[in-house]
Formats: sequence, structure tokens, C-alpha cells
Amino acid sequence: MPATAVRPSLADVDFATTPFIVIWEMTQACQLACLHCRASARPFRDSAELSTDEAMRLLDEIRAMGHPLVVLTGGDPLERPDVVRIVEYGTSIGLRMALTPSGTPRMSEAVLTELRDAGLARLAVSLDGSTAVIHDRFRGVDGSYNWTLRMLAAARTMGLSTQINTTISRHNRDDLEPMIRLLGGLGIALWSVFFIVPTGRARPGDLTTPDEHEAVFHRLYDLSRTAPFDIKTTAAPHYRRVVLQRQGRVLSRCGMSRQHRSCSNQSADANDDNMQRQENSVTRRLDYARVAPGAVHAMYALQQYTQSSGLEHSLLELVKLRSSEINGCAYCLDMHSKDARAAGETEQRIYVLSAWREAPFYTPRERAALAWTEAVTLIPNGVTDELYESVREHFDEKELVDLTLAIVTINGWNRLAISLGADVGSYQPRPRAASRAAAAPDHHEPAPAR
Ligand code: SF4
Repeated sequence: MPATAVRPSLADVDFATTPFIVIWEMTQACQLACLHCRASARPFRDSAELSTDEAMRLLDEIRAMGHPLVVLTGGDPLERPDVVRIVEYGTSIGLRMALTPSGTPRMSEAVLTELRDAGLARLAVSLDGSTAVIHDRFRGVDGSYNWTLRMLAAARTMGLSTQINTTISRHNRDDLEPMIRLLGGLGIALWSVFFIVPTGRARPGDLTTPDEHEAVFHRLYDLSRTAPFDIKTTAAPHYRRVVLQRQGRVLSRCGMSRQHRSCSNQSADANDDNMQRQENSVTRRLDYARVAPGAVHAMYALQQYTQSSGLEHSLLELVKLRSSEINGCAYCLDMHSKDARAAGETEQRIYVLSAWREAPFYTPRERAALAWTEAVTLIPNGVTDELYESVREHFDEKELVDLTLAIVTINGWNRLAISLGADVGSYQPRPRAASRAAAAPDHHEPAPAR
């Protein structure tokens, strides 16, 4: 039996050096003829495919980067006679190996048994309709639907973790509810929902409309709250936007921390809060910098201290953004998203920040800082010893004091802007000579509008 593959905690992975997932298209060969095939698969293998020895070396190189999930795909990976050996080797060196075979008779019970014994961590199969008519038409070969369901049942019987991949297109857009009913009885661990991209054999006419996309996103979000399986989307970054919108009512009130998801029953109250905040948001009630310049200079001094403390500028921007998200401070969100961008931060890390626990884009040190930011901002909930100890693994004493002061400072700005008003959207970042410098100035400073 191969060694058991390691599944590291996401919090312990440095994604600057270790990929979350590696997807290897190991062959172009496939016996199906799907309408949308991005790989433009064909029945025969290409002579330029990696040999078995080269495949092993590739896995060694992947392993040298950590313990990512390796997905063997194609084409149909079962078109390669060495696929079981490759799964076994990958597992033996500590990789989690998954496979996405095509729905053909090659996916036999005997092969599944060999794959399971080789250490396969996950079997992912495509199912694009609740009936053979819909699925087989999309996949281009009669019988694929029955072969797929048969293998799913066999895999479940032999204890293999299973996943269904579904591509949403105009061919199955009206089949969503029957699909959901079918999936509920298949014992899968994950429903991976792809949104068709017109490349390879797919055509623009295969796409669903923007409204249909939106309707599917909302249905997936609703389903995600009750389904016995996880849901993941591909080629649909805007699904994250829908998730944030749907969770936004909770977000502004309690910061969407996991332990606060139960707050969703307060959404009507929170919505009222948001409406009230919208009415109040544009007008600056009071120019506090003019009324109390000494106090504002004291705030600037604290801010300058934290900016010069040696903490990474990119980390400080994430802290300011997260605090501003929790407090619902539009002025500071506008300011710090612009500053972060100007300093080279990625759109992806800015957009996904409110769901950082579920995202692989943040380093362990950043994750510790974000957890600390949430606890210090939501201080009535307390700050546990356990959290303190885990954060201390990433910050020494001085750094933790500086980080806490940075959180205190942004919370102060948030409260000034929300209570006394600010001209939301007016802020423009300064050009930065050294945009990633640790001691870069903070742009709360030139805020005469405050
Ligand atoms: S099963 Fe995959 S590789 Fe084969 S034709 Fe369909 S999309 Fe292409």
C-alpha cells in the first residue's frame, strides 16, 4: 500500500512558494466528443506526451514545492496505461492524487479498485444533465450517462471520495433543479460547477446569458447553505461577488466571522442599518481636522509610528481593509483599496479579503494578522489565549504591539469617518516612489476632507 498522502492545514501553507492545486493534462486522448471540449480531445494519444519516467520526475518536482493536490486530467487520463502507477507513485511521495476520467467503459470497477488501492484521494466525474438525453448529447456519445452513474455508485461502495463536475451552458440551463435533486442522492463530497468558456470546441452560442448566470449563482448560494456536499465554481469569479452580496448584511454588522454566521437571522435589522448608512454616507457632518487639529495630529503621529514600525506595508493595508470592512467604513475602504492597489496589491486579494479564511491567497503571517484584526476590532467578543498564542508564532512581542496599534489606529479612523462623515470616493492615492517600502506614508495623513 502507498504511504498516506498528507493534507496540510491551509493556514500552514505559504502560497507564495506552494501551489494549492496542480492540474496536469496528461493526455489529449479521449473517446468522448463533448460539445465544449476545451482540449479539442481526439481518440489517439500524442507521441509528445510525457513518458512514465518523465511523469515521475514531474511529480517529484511538484512534491519539492510542498503537498499540493494533484489532479490528473486530459483528455481521459485512463487512456494512459500507466495511470495507476502514477497515482501510486504520487501518493507514495506524499501528494494527494485526484483523477478526472471520462464517462466511458474504461472506467471499470476493476480499474477503480486498482486506483483506490493505489491511494487515489478523489474521483471526479462529469455529469451535465439529470437525464441520459441531456448528458449524452452534451458529451457526444450515447451511454456516457449510464457509465458515469454506474461508476459513481461503485466508487461510493468501495469508499472512494467522489466529486461531480458540471458545466453550465445553454444545453442544461433549464435542468438545474432536476440536477440538484439527482446530486442529493449520489453521496458526493463536492459539486464543482463550471461555467462554459468559448474556447476549444465551445462556441459563444453555448453561453448562458448574464441573467441566467446570475440566477444560477443565487441558486448555488442557497443550495450551499443546506447541501450535504461542498460547492465550488470555476470560470465564475463573480460568484464570489454574489456570495459577498448575500452575506453582506451579516458582514456589516459582525464581520462575517464563522462564529457569527448565525447572525444571518438579523439580516432585516442589518438591512435597515445599511439603508440608514446610505442616507448618511455622502455628507461630511463635521470637519474634525479643522475643529480639533491637535487631536488629529496625535492620530497622525500614532499612524506614522505604525507605518514606520517595520511591519510590511502590504500587511498593514490588509489590516486596514479588513477592519474597515468589519466596521463598514466606506471612506476607509475606498482609501485603502486604492492605496493597496497603488502599492502593487492584487485585485484578487483585495476582493476576497472578507473571506480570507476560505482563500489560499494569504500567507500564514497575514492570516494571523487578519485573525488578530478581527478579534481586536470585534473586542466585545474577547481575545482568547489560544488566538494570542497562535498569533505569537508569527509576530514577536514588539511586532504584536505595533500590529495592535495599527488596528487601534484604523479603528479610530473608521469611527471618525462613520460618525462625523467623510466625502466617500474623493480620496486619490499619491504616486509612490517605493510602493512596497515598509515605511511608506499612510494616506490618511493628507485628508483635509476628514
Ligand atoms: S471528456 Fe473531457 S477531454 Fe473528453 S471530449 Fe469531453 S471535455 Fe474533452
